[in-house]
Amino acid sequence: MKLAMIGFGQAGGKIVDRFLEYDDRTNSGIVRAAIAVNSAKADLIGLDRIPEENRVLIGQARVKGHGVGADNELGAEIAEEDIDEVQNAIDSIPTHEVDAFLVVSGMGGGTGSGGAPVLAKHLKRIYTIPVYGLGVLPGTDEGGIYTLNAARSFQTFVREVDNLLVFDNDSWRQTGESVEGGYEKINEEIVKRFGVLFGAGEVGEGQEVAESVVDSSEIINTLSGGGVSTVGYASEEVELNTSGGLLSRFTGGDGGGDDGLDAANTTNRITSLVRKAALGRLTLPCEIEGTERALLVLSGPSKYLNRKGIERGRKWLEEETGSMEVRGGDFPRGEPEVSAAILLSGVTNVPRIKRLQQVAIEAQDNMDDIQEESDENLEELVEDDEDELEPLF
Ligand code: GDP
Repeated sequence: MKLAMIGFGQAGGKIVDRFLEYDDRTNSGIVRAAIAVNSAKADLIGLDRIPEENRVLIGQARVKGHGVGADNELGAEIAEEDIDEVQNAIDSIPTHEVDAFLVVSGMGGGTGSGGAPVLAKHLKRIYTIPVYGLGVLPGTDEGGIYTLNAARSFQTFVREVDNLLVFDNDSWRQTGESVEGGYEKINEEIVKRFGVLFGAGEVGEGQEVAESVVDSSEIINTLSGGGVSTVGYASEEVELNTSGGLLSRFTGGDGGGDDGLDAANTTNRITSLVRKAALGRLTLPCEIEGTERALLVLSGPSKYLNRKGIERGRKWLEEETGSMEVRGGDFPRGEPEVSAAILLSGVTNVPRIKRLQQVAIEAQDNMDDIQEESDENLEELVEDDEDELEPLF
């Protein structure tokens, strides 16, 4: 599937930059065009791969290239004011060759948090192709303002996109790591998961054709209907053997069949990968029961993929989610691992979002109280007790 990716704000730009690197490394061809939008000049300069002519600085008249400082209302305002500049950059990309837009942002900050939903709304008005969002939730240790920003951005972003894919920094952070080093690893996890999903169906020249191929219409159908999505992923290493065939490190050469692989082992490996992917850490933790639609993508060397395994995995997902719309297919790749990526679309039982909203409301109330109190305190300080003094004007 070919995407036009627009990274809004610092996190958005860095993640899109990383997608370009993934595309190069894996030859997956999912990023047809990449644009970064920011109100902070330094963040745009810090990007590695997004072409310079596709880096759009907005809000210069208001913030002079210094960013909006976690004020997402200001982020939304300047995005609206300067939407033509973003559109100019989009005009230079061949949108007729693109299957969908993907607007990427960290929802806890200012520029992306406020601007990404504004851009999504604009794109939906102009184009007929789907507009998806990839929104990142802040860690719970980032504090009240980030949580409040994220809760408000989430509400707006979901409303404006055709589907919001969510990644929760909180469930992926590791203790004892620098923030920057931590983001490096987290961003790699993000592009791996979404890269395998969107890469399915993009069979390049000389690549093997899948037995039951996933094409972009299946991804689009899974995401249609809107709402919130999460992705599960699990992988297992397999090895190339010296004779040119492929042998699993785990099954060794003891299997039957021409290529030395035992069909039962292949099927079992797939079914257990599917379970691990669905029951392990999701990009947004949630209860999978009640998911409206799902897509299962099995990728790896084609010898390790079989229809029976995928069919079993698909059936199991139907039972676990209670969904009648579970699609599945394979994505042959020459990498020495077999992986299962599962897109769960239309999830509604998400305690993490309910907690985020609670903390956001508390932060909002606290901020209102503090504001009120400090207004009173200032008045008390400035006014003399008997009101004997007169201000100048
Ligand atoms: P903006 O530039 O004003 O849109 O704000 P940022 O994008 O800098 O930050 C918004 C939020 O995104 C932060 O609160 C973090 O939770 C998150 N964030 C920042 N940088 C990264 C990154 O590189 N990767 C990920 N996954 N999250 C990030």
